[in-house]
Amino acid sequence: MTKKTGIVKDIRYLKHGTAFMEPETSKRLLSIYTMLESSGMKDKLIDIEPRYAEISELALFHETAYIDMVAGTAGKKYCSLDPDTGTTEDSYDVARLAVGGVCNAVDRVLTGDCDNAFALVRPPGHHAEPGRAAGFCIFNNIVIGALYALTRRDVHKILIVDWDLHHGNGTQNAFYSDNRVLYFSIHEYPSYPGTGAAEEIGRDGGEGYNINIPLAPGAGDADYLAITGTVLEPVANEFKPDLIMVSAGFDIYHRDPLGGMKVTEKGFAALTRVIMNIADRCCRGKLVATLEGGYHIGGLTGSVKAVLHELLNETPLSEAELDDMERDGLHRQDSVIKRVRENIEPFWPVFK
Ligand SMILES: [Zn+2]
Repeated sequence: MTKKTGIVKDIRYLKHGTAFMEPETSKRLLSIYTMLESSGMKDKLIDIEPRYAEISELALFHETAYIDMVAGTAGKKYCSLDPDTGTTEDSYDVARLAVGGVCNAVDRVLTGDCDNAFALVRPPGHHAEPGRAAGFCIFNNIVIGALYALTRRDVHKILIVDWDLHHGNGTQNAFYSDNRVLYFSIHEYPSYPGTGAAEEIGRDGGEGYNINIPLAPGAGDADYLAITGTVLEPVANEFKPDLIMVSAGFDIYHRDPLGGMKVTEKGFAALTRVIMNIADRCCRGKLVATLEGGYHIGGLTGSVKAVLHELLNETPLSEAELDDMERDGLHRQDSVIKRVRENIEPFWPVFK
């Protein structure tokens, strides 16, 4: 059966940055939006109008002084927030629109208007900290979307899966001592931003609810599936989230200029399927993905398309196909899987 898949898409997202602000440029979304028009996919998808996040929503995570500082960049030709992150005239509004897009996607999925949704927004968010922009990120879209669901809607437990090449330091910090959110990140390590060791498992009440899978460059479809099959699935099934959110970064694509990973379009579809299977088991399929990185424009576009086909349930990969895809990775990633499981074993009876 096909699913009702929503997308957040708005040409205002193209108004952040200049042509010189490589690699996180408007060309990324422009290419995705063009694909949606030309492939006929648009007709199958439900449009979710974004909105500007309210200050009180930004303040669910960010410090007031930081929000004010970013607001102060509005109308200015260029401001530098961090060595990687700059703003142009409209960036403050666009960044608020990214957060509001994710919040609206959460709402449409929670009300059942959509079974799942993909927020095709920019700037990305997972590196942003309460008082600091970082790594092309201004406001932390996924963190605020999750806090919005937890505090303003009837959601108690959220699983965040972050498959971006880079560790989502901002997301980890947001929920490091919070057992309402299980944060699961697979990333290249060591790499930007430097965090994300397997030993970072959360603290206080959040111990065991922060799971990092640090990988050496070179991991491909089989490696990612081996890890999701042996670590993510057992933990997620035990956690039983009410909602799943995904930091979908496509810089693990095999030709991405920033990364050394080897994931293909089919790999992204398979990862999506694994997460959809968890969502189907735990929370009637409720899943909200948001775009993070991905800098090979053609690869990004094709991979987003593969993810959307999967979300629509048009190309369901069977369990047998997934098992087949992960086989080579089990052996290659054996030691990291073991190490991660040892660290979190005290908190997850499934590993005992
Ligand atoms: Zn990234």
